[in-house]
Amino acid sequence: MRAAVVDAVNAPWRVREVDTPRPGPGEVLIRVHASGVCHNDVLVSRGVFPFPQLDPVVIGHEPAGEVVEVGAGVTTRQVGDRVGATWVQGTCGRCEHCRRDPGLTGRAATSCPGVRMTGLNAPGGHAEYVAVSAASTVLLPEALGYEAAAPMLCAGYTAWSALRTANPRPHERVAVLGIGGLGHLAVQFSRACGFDTVAVTRTPDKHELARKLGADEVVGDGAALRAAGGADVILVTGTSYAAATDALAGLRPRGRMVLAGIDPGGTLAIGPTFPIWSRGQQILGATHLGLDRLGEALDLAAGGAVTPMVETFDADRADEVVRRVERNEVRFRAVLRF
Ligand code: ZN
Ligand code: ZN
Repeated sequence: MRAAVVDAVNAPWRVREVDTPRPGPGEVLIRVHASGVCHNDVLVSRGVFPFPQLDPVVIGHEPAGEVVEVGAGVTTRQVGDRVGATWVQGTCGRCEHCRRDPGLTGRAATSCPGVRMTGLNAPGGHAEYVAVSAASTVLLPEALGYEAAAPMLCAGYTAWSALRTANPRPHERVAVLGIGGLGHLAVQFSRACGFDTVAVTRTPDKHELARKLGADEVVGDGAALRAAGGADVILVTGTSYAAATDALAGLRPRGRMVLAGIDPGGTLAIGPTFPIWSRGQQILGATHLGLDRLGEALDLAAGGAVTPMVETFDADRADEVVRRVERNEVRFRAVLRF
């Protein structure tokens, strides 16, 4: 099969022939039709995050495609199913984390020593075929095409999980910091749920687009958010904790800031004069909350309330695509077609 292989840290992504996997017990083999490129794929291939100990190294955790073979013991999936696979594919089921918090969630990624993660310590989705545990797949709604489904499997899942974690109440106002892969979906999720939604972006040419996505208002930074009345919820979807620190200026008393993106180098800073204590504010982390929540996000996309904006590329252009993602040139999710 063809796969985008990364031979070493910082090596180019090369599409070449590798062995086609076979599904093990409990696994399904997916013929990948669309594979979304997550910003974290780039950080992994650049060695910012631990480089996969795989042979060959195939990254990617947003594969959408069709089941073409099922492994021994699989009863929940069948050949022909349209499915998506996710980042956390399995856990040890035995450690302290798994005892307290069982299930396939992003929380297991950093808490369970036996976690199995697609494209990190298990073969990833940037390939013609990927074998994953059947339990980590979701059935895709019929109305959702593969190229739209792929970005929902991490970016959409994360953005929806961030909104769910913030748990906004009626009449509360939601701000989305960063209008990129996650943020452009977070704005749409918030509007789909009827919340007054503010986009916060320093990029002037994204202002009009943010309004088209459903933002009621667009501001440039935390001070401007505060001047516009502030927000009860701030979803941090970009990769800058410095920008998150700045945005705290616009968080209302009793407000919740949710960190959903990963900053590989920055720090969220709460200085001695920032009265988070008297304002009763909370800082929360959020990642994939579980496959039931992913199902909600997929339903919203299938129903048309949320539309991922994707740029689709033939897999042969994988290395060029990675560079474009790295330079934040993709609006808003690159999808590789195999
Ligand atoms: Zn991701
Ligand atoms: Zn465990």
